Amino acid sequence: MDQTLHPLRNLDRRQAMRLAVSAPLAAVTAAWAAQAYAGACVAEDDLSPSESSMRRSLRYEEPSTDAAKICGGCAFYKSESGGCGKCQLLNGAVSVGGRCESWAPKPK
Ligand code: SF4
Repeated sequence: MDQTLHPLRNLDRRQAMRLAVSAPLAAVTAAWAAQAYAGACVAEDDLSPSESSMRRSLRYEEPSTDAAKICGGCAFYKSESGGCGKCQLLNGAVSVGGRCESWAPKPK
């Protein structure tokens, strides 16, 4: 292959720096935008726009990235069945193993 035809071969230093900075940011942004805030207990399509927005703003994740903080141990979680329960803040179904930024320990 003729090296002068490779698209990255003709970048100047400034263009290469811009690409090096922007490519990872674009990947992170795309991953964040594509992340589902629903989970095993509710389908994304069953969420209203406001419910979906609330999950996104509280950064609901499933499974929780912090094993010490899961919905099952949260004060706002009401257990139902099959590993699913209802969150009083998100007003909908969440997984016992999920979590959001409003996690608060159950009172003892
Ligand atoms: S408020 Fe508690 S139960 Fe509701 S999603 Fe967040 S961590 Fe889970």
